[in-house]
Amino acid sequence: MNNFGYTRASDVADAVRQIAADPAAKFIAGGTNLIDLMKENVARPSRLIDITHLPLDKIEETKDGGLRIGALVPNSDLSYHPQIEARYPLLASAILAGASQQLRNMASTGGNLLQRTRCFYFYDTTTPCNKREPGSGCSAIGGINRGHAILGTSEHCIATHPSDMCVALAALEARVLATGRNGGERTIMFADFHRLPGDTPQIDTTLRADEIITAIDLPPKGFAANHSYLKIRDRLSYAFALVSVAAGLDIQDGKIKEARLALGGVAHKPWRDKHAEAQLAGAPATHETFMRAAETVLRDARGFGHNDFKIELARRGIVRTLTQAAGGTPQSQADKRIK
Ligand SMILES: Cc1cc2nc3c(=O)[nH]c(=O)nc-3n(C[C@H](O)[C@H](O)[C@H](O)COP(=O)(O)OP(=O)(O)OC[C@H]3O[C@@H](n4cnc5c(N)ncnc54)[C@H](O)[C@@H]3O)c2cc1C
Ligand code: SF4
Repeated sequence: MNNFGYTRASDVADAVRQIAADPAAKFIAGGTNLIDLMKENVARPSRLIDITHLPLDKIEETKDGGLRIGALVPNSDLSYHPQIEARYPLLASAILAGASQQLRNMASTGGNLLQRTRCFYFYDTTTPCNKREPGSGCSAIGGINRGHAILGTSEHCIATHPSDMCVALAALEARVLATGRNGGERTIMFADFHRLPGDTPQIDTTLRADEIITAIDLPPKGFAANHSYLKIRDRLSYAFALVSVAAGLDIQDGKIKEARLALGGVAHKPWRDKHAEAQLAGAPATHETFMRAAETVLRDARGFGHNDFKIELARRGIVRTLTQAAGGTPQSQADKRIK
């Protein structure tokens, strides 16, 4: 049992002041990931700074016609919000593909971005893990790595980012709003928020230690007419993605005007490939076009033994998701029929 303190932040400035004064402290929102990490002795914060009473639970229109989602909006509220359902169904369906209703009721938008990998060696403190204990080695390389990454890996870590919501946010080109010391606010493009492991796999994101996420901004374009989120996993619910694909297409006269494509379960961050998107733009919405895009996304993919199958799974997943998006028949419709 590790002793830890507990305080409550009174406002955003107070939250930042508290974390800057005690770098070993951690914010707690829904607690659905952090408490598990503490129970497993992976996270040992000196203090929990409770941010759940901060006024960051609104979904509001932005001046540019998009939406601002407060960092404390629960995942459930976000997925069922009428504006999200109507304008950003890709985001709604990605959230609903994750966890369980009870977990989504607790999980916050900000916490979802910062949830840590589900690599089981990371959670098992008896094994070497560079992410948990820098310099100790990676047990997954040469170990059991069925769920691990095939893109953007390094010799130090092959973990994946587990979020579903973040895959949709990557495809939608969301922006993360953060506040740091002295009221310093900044906006981080979603593509720059999560990191690849490189030689510092212990660092998941570009958020600074003394910053708090206050909101996520969605640009106006939501690809509502032609989108799909496909999550392939071992069980139909309550399981993390082996491979997931988020696609949004803007199609005019059978031709793709603009494309967004992001993958989950394959890399240390939601994997978006701008080359594949550029290749899709201007092309006819056909099977051949989608096959070519899949080849492009996976051109540098590499398996580590148990996860070799993910390369073919991702290829098929990309083609299927783009086909669903183009046809206006998203996976979420098929899921409703199953339920
Ligand atoms: C059994 C189980 C199954 C799950 N399945 C899925 C799944 O299929 N797909 C999926 O996407 N997710 C899944 N999840 C993960 C779940 O979505 C996350 O645990 C949740 O989103 C985290 O949000 P939280 O508010 O509970 O975060 P917390 O646990 O409170 O915090 C997580 C981290 O974020 C930090 N933090 C929180 N808010 C802020 C903020 N505003 N600013 C700065 N730092 C902050 C905390 O300090 C902590 O380090 C699952 C979780 C469990 C337990
Ligand atoms: S893949 Fe990353 S998280 Fe998993 S054991 Fe290796 S270093 Fe640790």
